[in-house]
Amino acid sequence: MEVYKFGGASVKDAAAVRNVAGILRSEVTDTTCVVVSAMGKTTNALEVVLDAFYQGRPDAAQTVKAVVETHLHILHGLFPDPAHEAYAKVKALFTDLMREARSLGKTPYDEAYDRIVSYGERLSTCIIAEYLNDQGIGTAELDARNLVITDGHFREGKVLWEPTAERIRKAAAQVREDGLLVALTQGFIARSEDGKTVTLGREGSDYSAAIFSYCLDAEKMTIWKDVPGVLNADPKYFTNTQKLDYISYYDATELAYYGASIIHPKTIKPLQNKHIPLHVRSFMDVAAPGTWVGLDDVPNSEIPSFICKPKQVLLSIYPKDFSFIDESNLSEIFGILVKNGMKVNLMQNSALSFSVCLDQTRGDLDAVLSQLSPRYDCRFNQELELVTIRHHTQEVIDNIVGGREVLLEQRTRQAAQLVLKI
Ligand code: ASP
Ligand code: MG
Repeated sequence: MEVYKFGGASVKDAAAVRNVAGILRSEVTDTTCVVVSAMGKTTNALEVVLDAFYQGRPDAAQTVKAVVETHLHILHGLFPDPAHEAYAKVKALFTDLMREARSLGKTPYDEAYDRIVSYGERLSTCIIAEYLNDQGIGTAELDARNLVITDGHFREGKVLWEPTAERIRKAAAQVREDGLLVALTQGFIARSEDGKTVTLGREGSDYSAAIFSYCLDAEKMTIWKDVPGVLNADPKYFTNTQKLDYISYYDATELAYYGASIIHPKTIKPLQNKHIPLHVRSFMDVAAPGTWVGLDDVPNSEIPSFICKPKQVLLSIYPKDFSFIDESNLSEIFGILVKNGMKVNLMQNSALSFSVCLDQTRGDLDAVLSQLSPRYDCRFNQELELVTIRHHTQEVIDNIVGGREVLLEQRTRQAAQLVLKI
């Protein structure tokens, strides 16, 4: 079985949903598992809804209106007949959403978050399943919460692979037996063993598709995007980007980990473990070749790739007693970083100092500084940029630096990482 994943942008309005149906009609010949995200920016809108209800704001009910309106607009675009069943189904989901939002009470925030935000994906599959069936594309809508079982860690569920695989295989086999072409399910959402709704982390639908691919031993997974494939740099930060025809699992993981926004970082590992190829294709240009992600030793893997992480702090730490940096200092420093929620992107030590590059927008830097201050002197710079260049050459590095000050640099054979002033 193959697995397709359509993200929010690919189902953002009625025309986009029609396009998805067109892709399925032209591409799918055998039962296929299709994972979809919430439509457009619905997840962001539901975060607003959650916060309004959670804080008991008087205008809370108003915040749902925006979500209702976008979905109604899409329904009108897809189902001209106002008596179509899709309207009643969507209405029932909104009734449930309101009921749940009103009864959050003292539910812990992260649990409430997953409960409310999951409606985005549920609305999306509800509408798309109705539309595909209307179009004669036999579709079963499967609730991912009955299939993907997690440890119950809200907003970041960890998959329990055995029960998940068993359920997914069974459900998919049933869809095939029923002679349907599409097993449609939600990305991002899952549940705990005791039946509570759990999500897998923002932008987690790619990861969901990888979970389905792994459990189904898929021949192939396809992510449909609004770009022609994986580019060697984010066009937001770099000009003259180049599409990569083929990259290794290893490169894809490294690119995603250091901030390339094209693929969710957790996506590659399950695919790599079973050697399932990933094809990243454009939903706007089905004829375009896209990018293949697969095993190493591949053609054109030497094209340099650039990933830029803005908003970095470089913190340099010096023991006050001029002792050397050793394992016990490092363990103390890391304890403080972890305790204060810092995300470490790069580190380097010398005899007398230890430097770390951290996300500026995560954790509590002031607390870190004050907890280090009894035993360490600290210096730091903010508003820096961490640039990772895979398959670097000196010329490429010189170009990126372009006369800027380099505060820290690390090189391996595969990658160069530079912390730069903007
Ligand atoms: N809808 C979720 C989000 O926007 C999951 C996803 O799109 O991957 O984060
Ligand atoms: Mg999304």
